[in-house]
Amino acid sequence: MNASDGKLASGAQVELAVVVPVYNEAANIAPLLARLTPVLERVAATHRVVFINDGSRDSTMDAIHAANAADPRVAAVSFSRNFGKEIAIAAGLDNADADAVIIMDADLQHPPETIEAFAAKWREGYQNVYGVRTGRDTESAIRRMAAHRFYRVFATLGETELPEGAGDFRLLDRQCVLALRAMGERARFSKGLYAWIGFKSTGIPYVVEERASGESKFSYRKLTRFALDGLMSFSTMPLMVWTYIGTIISIFAILMAMRFLLETAIYGIDVPGFATIIVSVMFLGGVQLLSLGVLGEYIGRIFAEVKRRPLYLVGERVGLPDDPTCDPAPRSHARRVA
Ligand code: UDP
Ligand code: MG
Repeated sequence: MNASDGKLASGAQVELAVVVPVYNEAANIAPLLARLTPVLERVAATHRVVFINDGSRDSTMDAIHAANAADPRVAAVSFSRNFGKEIAIAAGLDNADADAVIIMDADLQHPPETIEAFAAKWREGYQNVYGVRTGRDTESAIRRMAAHRFYRVFATLGETELPEGAGDFRLLDRQCVLALRAMGERARFSKGLYAWIGFKSTGIPYVVEERASGESKFSYRKLTRFALDGLMSFSTMPLMVWTYIGTIISIFAILMAMRFLLETAIYGIDVPGFATIIVSVMFLGGVQLLSLGVLGEYIGRIFAEVKRRPLYLVGERVGLPDDPTCDPAPRSHARRVA
């Protein structure tokens, strides 16, 4: 530690900032910093590690305080409760005042050494350098398959191109960070947003490691919600598709009506057809409820957006200025409550 490190504690601008969302990761803080800090010292003149404590219920904050006491380049923003990883990333981008920001997980699944390659690409002029996971061996076959399917569906429905295997582990230069800060949406699907902003991008392959300690925080239920959020914030196709389905069913109904009309005219009134009626009533009922459900999903999201609640609430800041003065355009929806 030297004098300039002390200055960084006040939140001065740094060359490289690393944003790490953490939720019950007490056991991973020290091992992560032990591997990360030497890499950062090699690639940048000044750096800061900003943990976003996403309402952890374990001793994550104690571990962060201890790390900050040992090295003031370790900073943190602590949420008032769990807001989810996507929101934590948004808060990280709001609070990391740096020429370039790196986003990574706390569980060492994202090897810190890859950052050297990220920084090299950045110095070559790339602005949006993303890690591409090679081998998802650390995950169950079901999750791997579901992820693959998701990318396929997204590619068909989404209006944004999403590189498969690219996630949150990436480097964003200041221009990208400012672009992402400007997005006020609450339903945040970061993967999509990174692709949406564009800028000079490139991928760097990396091998996913085993989780250092603890378990994945994402259940299948949470992942399903996440996938739906992603699709719905980047595609209106699920809304439009009902126009086509409705048209096809209507055409079919008109043809049937014409057939019955002719049959009645030729053969007279025919009583059978009970099964046809039941099946078509049930089918149409099902289709209508399904389309209403899709409408509901979108309306629910519109409702969440129009309420314009703050995106997150900050309970405590460590090693950062009290007011986010480092943020040239503070998000009107980021509020400090304590
Ligand atoms: N995380 C978070 N809030 C949450 C869930 C997860 O900040 O609600 C953090 C978590 O602490 C970790 C990162 O997001 O640093 C990735 O989570 P995890 O390793 O559980 O996800 P996976 O690797 O299984 O996708
Ligand atoms: Mg993980």
